[in-house]
Amino acid sequence: MTVPTPLTIRMHAADNVAIVANDGGLPAGTVLASGLTLVDKVPQAHKVALEDIAEGGVVRRYNVPIGYALKPIPAGSWVHERLLQMPAARELVGLPIATVKPPEMPPLEGYTFEGYRNLDGSVGTRNILAITQTVQCVAGVVDFAVQRIKAELLPKYPNVDDVVGLSHSYGCGVAIDAPDAVIPIRTLRNISLNPNFGGEVMVISLGCEKLQPERLLPPGSIPLVDERNVADVGVSAESPLDVVCLQDNAHVGFMSMIDSIMRQAEEHLERLNARRRETVPASELVVGVQCGGSDAFSGVTANPAVGFCTDLLVRAGATVMFSEVTEVRDGIDQLTSRATTPAVADAMIREMAWYDAYLDRGRVDRSANTTPGNKKGGLSNIVEKAMGSIVKSGSAPISGVVAPGEKASQKGLLYAATPASDFICGTLQLAAGMNLHVFTTGRGTPYGLAEVPVIKVATRSDLARRWHDLMDINAGRIADGEASIEDVGWEMFRLMLEVASGRKKTWAEHWKLHNALVLFNPAPVT
Ligand code: CA
Repeated sequence: MTVPTPLTIRMHAADNVAIVANDGGLPAGTVLASGLTLVDKVPQAHKVALEDIAEGGVVRRYNVPIGYALKPIPAGSWVHERLLQMPAARELVGLPIATVKPPEMPPLEGYTFEGYRNLDGSVGTRNILAITQTVQCVAGVVDFAVQRIKAELLPKYPNVDDVVGLSHSYGCGVAIDAPDAVIPIRTLRNISLNPNFGGEVMVISLGCEKLQPERLLPPGSIPLVDERNVADVGVSAESPLDVVCLQDNAHVGFMSMIDSIMRQAEEHLERLNARRRETVPASELVVGVQCGGSDAFSGVTANPAVGFCTDLLVRAGATVMFSEVTEVRDGIDQLTSRATTPAVADAMIREMAWYDAYLDRGRVDRSANTTPGNKKGGLSNIVEKAMGSIVKSGSAPISGVVAPGEKASQKGLLYAATPASDFICGTLQLAAGMNLHVFTTGRGTPYGLAEVPVIKVATRSDLARRWHDLMDINAGRIADGEASIEDVGWEMFRLMLEVASGRKKTWAEHWKLHNALVLFNPAPVT
């Protein structure tokens, strides 16, 4: 058996730890290229001390203190979370504001994709009939109807990719007048207006719920409403909204509800079917980036490649959103310094302060973020995880902030404030208008959404090999020395244009892996 060459990766010259890159880790007694001998067995992606660290001494990765030694750590030791005390969160005062001179970023021109141009100017990457729901009560009925629509109607409309019921847990049994209820309500509203749905909004309502259709989608909220909506069967001339109400007296028996939904769906399918892809500039991409099931490689391979790709997208004039409050909170000074204006920095601070207070109300803090899998994957705490997560934002200036559930209204690199929960983050990025999703994972997650294509990026070659029919890109080649961050970043950029054009399907699309929409509801339920 050949003994593999020991590989370690140090992120910054000032770091006093490196991570082990070899599959399966390295045994005690291994001599590293530097001459250092491992004192302990160090698992893959876990840290090794490069020098003696005294009790109370700083453990530095990404040139940032990720912890303080609880006892002396000799050089060559495995540095795991039980040896570290986590640094306190940076206070949200006295931060550097818009201090970083933006790097030279020449425009990237000539890149296009084939997309569906909507009346409001947005561009879809898929052509989907979405069925909006005011309340969870109707979800079973809509599911039933969606199965029938797929089996009986969809084959007649070959240009329509899919039919999706936008089911959720909100709508009733909630304190709908609480100030924070604005978040789930505007999230649902903006999701139903996602560019992939072509402006064809149809709503299924129960009738007695708190979230009435006109509260969900008040007059004027659907852009460019035209006469076609008013002409819909069963809709009064005053209401531009296409609503099927299950409690309507006209419904006698379950099948009459299904018939109503199918009749309305067919009108929308006809119009969606008439849509055609056209060549649009890459600037029409609205990409949401996030990570889940992270390990210590996330911040070494996949996330830096995403960051490089983020810079390419920004140079091409596109919109890129990075999110996950608790995973960027520890890098707040990096973010505020990269803001294009003090107003953008202030908006970021405001979102972070709101989230600090939200966590505080639940008597936890940002350290509640890390999972057992993160720690098994070598991430000692949220500071280390955050430093690896934040690199997804690349180096472009941050030009805007999107509050939870709001729609992005500008191009460039945006901070979309969302929880780090994969499903809640994805749901809020959908509301913000995302038409393409990039998701990096180290431990491995089969995450997917019905509403937009999700490109999944593995941080390690071992994962990419085992999950060969779930991972779209293997960024582990960076750690293996087979590709550079730039190579993988460009590969990602090109794959995005292919996927956005519908020429390629992601693995999650191929297998129809669809995670639920999960609303962020910080308001009370009743
Ligand atoms: Ca996440």
